[in-house]
Amino acid sequence: MNILIIGGGIGGMSTAIALKRKGFDPEIVEINRDWKVYHVGIVVQGNFLRAMASLGVAEQAVAAGFVYKGLRLCNPPGKILAEIPGAALAAGLPSDLGLTRPALHKVLTDAVRANQVRLRLGVSFTEIINTPSGATVRFTDGTEGQYDLVIGADGVYSKVRASVFGPQHVPKFTGQGVWRYNIPRPADLDWAYMYKGKPGGTAGIIPLTRDTLYVFKVQAEPGNPTMPPATLAEQFRERLDGYGGLIPPLRAQITDSSQVVYRPLEALIMPSPWYRDRVLLIGDAAHSATPHLGQGAAMAVEDAVVLGDELARGAALPATLEAFMKRRYERARAIGEASIQLGEWEQRPTPDADPDGLLKRIFMLFQQPV
Ligand SMILES: Cc1cc2nc3c(=O)[nH]c(=O)nc-3n(C[C@H](O)[C@H](O)[C@H](O)COP(=O)(O)OP(=O)(O)OC[C@H]3O[C@@H](n4cnc5c(N)ncnc54)[C@H](O)[C@@H]3O)c2cc1C
Repeated sequence: MNILIIGGGIGGMSTAIALKRKGFDPEIVEINRDWKVYHVGIVVQGNFLRAMASLGVAEQAVAAGFVYKGLRLCNPPGKILAEIPGAALAAGLPSDLGLTRPALHKVLTDAVRANQVRLRLGVSFTEIINTPSGATVRFTDGTEGQYDLVIGADGVYSKVRASVFGPQHVPKFTGQGVWRYNIPRPADLDWAYMYKGKPGGTAGIIPLTRDTLYVFKVQAEPGNPTMPPATLAEQFRERLDGYGGLIPPLRAQITDSSQVVYRPLEALIMPSPWYRDRVLLIGDAAHSATPHLGQGAAMAVEDAVVLGDELARGAALPATLEAFMKRRYERARAIGEASIQLGEWEQRPTPDADPDGLLKRIFMLFQQPV
């Protein structure tokens, strides 16, 4: 099969590695010529590491990150209300891991190169002519190719999605934004912390590397305002005002606006199926959720592993894609919608809101085999 992957992010690279390991020879086109990712943190859990183990790169990810013990849920003054140890889901691997995005990117790019994946950087597509018998793709470098399968792994603002499924499928602002800042990690900080209970969002701390942690605040930002860059540190400190526990000394270190990462939260869960004829969407292109559950990367890598499994069975493509949807849709939808629901309850709590119950249900769900 001639397989094209559009987008060399977490999902696209994982798919290329999964397919190579099953004997396929896919090609990636990635729009960014320098293929760099910005320096922020990412948290992943046991199901991410289980999926990375299927790609043969779990140990590299663990070595590149910082293993922590699990999550401490606190009230805003800082009292620890519950301790949720992580669930290790693969032999010899930990449960919870903090990583910088560049560190994860390096693990995956090293594996892409070691697997000799064909890769064109600085290239996107201009047109996909998608038919039941094959897809013709025209590229921005003036070339053209014929493919049996085109995988749209081009992220939340997917152009593949717009081109094949229509421009109506756009991610929507959820009403919240996330503020983040990296800070030196006190040597004894080896749990993640979430401070819940203030209206509008949650504050938290994630151990990221041996030397760093990041502080975050998810906050209701009505109207999705543009944040003047010079005010970011001050605005972030304001949003952490009134929290106790470990927050105050970390808050005081948020001083450099150029190091604050602010991002409005947007989400879109595509209805099933995520394929049309010869084009399949995976990762954020198909299901971009909010970071409330820290499951976006895991869902993208699981998509890759399942697609590799299903293609390797050698069934006709429509049956393969249907089998992929059967294993992926409900799981990714439930986890994505739960993330969005948690953010909705933070902004507009209802009498029946049960965020802790929902967290527990999703915690059980992502432990299930894919
Ligand atoms: C603020 C924030 C915090 C998050 N925190 C976490 C977290 O802690 N844990 C977690 O698991 N997840 C987190 N996520 C989600 C996670 O980042 C995504 O789910 C994950 O990156 C999805 O991988 P992907 O490959 O689908 O998309 P991406 O990683 O976005 O990759 C898409 C790739 O496609 C390329 N591309 C784009 N357009 C084109 C084009 N037209 N042609 C060719 N290439 C193209 C891009 O350059 C990029 O390399 C967070 C997301 C946000 C927004």
